[in-house]
Amino acid sequence: MLTRLLALAAVAPGLVAYGKKAPGRAACTIEELFESSVSPATEIASSTDANFSSVVGPRWSAWEAPAWSGAIKPATEADLQKIVQISVENNIPFIATNGGHGPKQGQGSFTGININLGSFNTVSIDTANNLVTVGAGVKLWDVQTGLYNVGKEIQTGNSICPGAIGVTIGAGIGMMTGMYGLMIDTLKSVRMITAKGQLVKASATENSDLFWAIRGAGVNFGIVTEATYGIHDQTNEGNVTAVTFVYAAASNRTLFETMKTFDGNQPAKLSFQTVIQFNRASNASQIVVQLWYFGPVSEAQPYIDTFAAAGPVVQSVTYLPQTDLYYQSETAGVCDRGHIISAHSLGFNQTVVSSYEAHFADMTAFYITNPSFAGISVFQYYSNKQTLKTPASETVFPWRDIQVWWLTQNQYSDASLGPQVDKFMIGQRTNLQTTSGFDTPHVYFNYAFGDEGAAAWYSAANLPRLRKLKSIWDPNFVFGNGAPLY
Ligand SMILES: Cc1cc2nc3c(=O)[nH]c(=O)nc-3n(C[C@H](O)[C@H](O)[C@H](O)COP(=O)(O)OP(=O)(O)OC[C@H]3O[C@@H](n4cnc5c(N)ncnc54)[C@H](O)[C@@H]3O)c2cc1C
Repeated sequence: MLTRLLALAAVAPGLVAYGKKAPGRAACTIEELFESSVSPATEIASSTDANFSSVVGPRWSAWEAPAWSGAIKPATEADLQKIVQISVENNIPFIATNGGHGPKQGQGSFTGININLGSFNTVSIDTANNLVTVGAGVKLWDVQTGLYNVGKEIQTGNSICPGAIGVTIGAGIGMMTGMYGLMIDTLKSVRMITAKGQLVKASATENSDLFWAIRGAGVNFGIVTEATYGIHDQTNEGNVTAVTFVYAAASNRTLFETMKTFDGNQPAKLSFQTVIQFNRASNASQIVVQLWYFGPVSEAQPYIDTFAAAGPVVQSVTYLPQTDLYYQSETAGVCDRGHIISAHSLGFNQTVVSSYEAHFADMTAFYITNPSFAGISVFQYYSNKQTLKTPASETVFPWRDIQVWWLTQNQYSDASLGPQVDKFMIGQRTNLQTTSGFDTPHVYFNYAFGDEGAAAWYSAANLPRLRKLKSIWDPNFVFGNGAPLY
């Protein structure tokens, strides 16, 4: 019987109890346990090693950071298989990460190893067959730029830094959702390593049940090493109209009424998000609207005029390549790592102006009471007409009827503010649920805090099938930390 990693704290640093490597041996280091089974290019470090920070997968948020006892960065798919097998045999918990953008409640109490997928960073484009295949270490930026350079495009998230597969296996929403649906809707097949360390393929024709489950609940079933997607010819030669508006607090109701006019009739090429934030210099809340239109300014003009009529204090129109637009997430600091940031989220199928107004007022009061709170509240609007074309039964991701994706990014520098932030945001979530247009909470797992539960992420109706598949593919709960299905 080998030692559970959870017992590590009792062992002297340097000689970490990863397991009894040989009879009579009390413990061995992470290097001793894995090194002889993997290729030399695989990097291994215990958390006390000098090179640990270069081996461990970087995290975006400092909130609920796991206590990694070690990290492994596999060089090949075969290495990754071995790492999973050895970890499972030795009862060593692990989380495989890429972009590091998916913190969840409870992960702060996780002890185990990090498997850094960063070396699997290839993007292969097959323009003749309109396919792209990405590795587990690929970031959205690699996909966005790779396709842009060959005159193609794909629906992704809006930032450049999250892991492409990490975003996909939750659903994958972004400014092209209106045109092409979710990332899972263009996913053709995956290769993945299961809890037994087996390499399997999943697609509509191969392990189709598993393919259903990984399109929404992918974190619970294995490590996807490679994903192949359909791609599209570039829209408008890859250029986008992007407009930023800033509204003073007094305009909030007028702006929310403007947003409501898009309920049920948002054009496919038009996406926008509104960001409630606090301007500490003027000591007032303000709302920033970012509007994106996949066409020339002349086509976007009616929508620009609509938002302009709501009285912004700033309006800035740009016309730029898709890649420049995506890159703004980097220059705007969205991808900055190391801050304490948690998230709360909910989906709506309608805009209820009075609820938005009440939320805006509550946010303003919270900003004033808590001067160190620097969080934001975001309403993302994507047309769901294309998303609804895929039958609900195709994927475990159930919430195709969401038209507004509400997300908070709760940033605060003083960790002791955490409980107050959580209480406040959970209260806001409860309030907004009452006018969400849905009887039960519709929560996008990739934006979730982590307390909502499996029915809110995957629907009560999907749970029996999902749990049955879990019992087949991962009966011992090797995967899915932060995403409990029970
Ligand atoms: C700044 C920012 C912007 C975002 N923008 C969007 C957006 O526009 N649209 C959107 O839909 N979402 C967006 N998200 C949410 C994002 O989809 C999730 O956070 C997603 O989990 C990120 O994946 P990751 O690889 O970066 O994170 P990680 O923390 O590395 O992984 C998150 C989870 O996925 C698992 N995982 C990662 N890779 C694999 C794999 N290859 N196989 C199996 N499991 C894997 C991990 O084990 C972990 O459980 C954003 C998040 C942030 C922080």
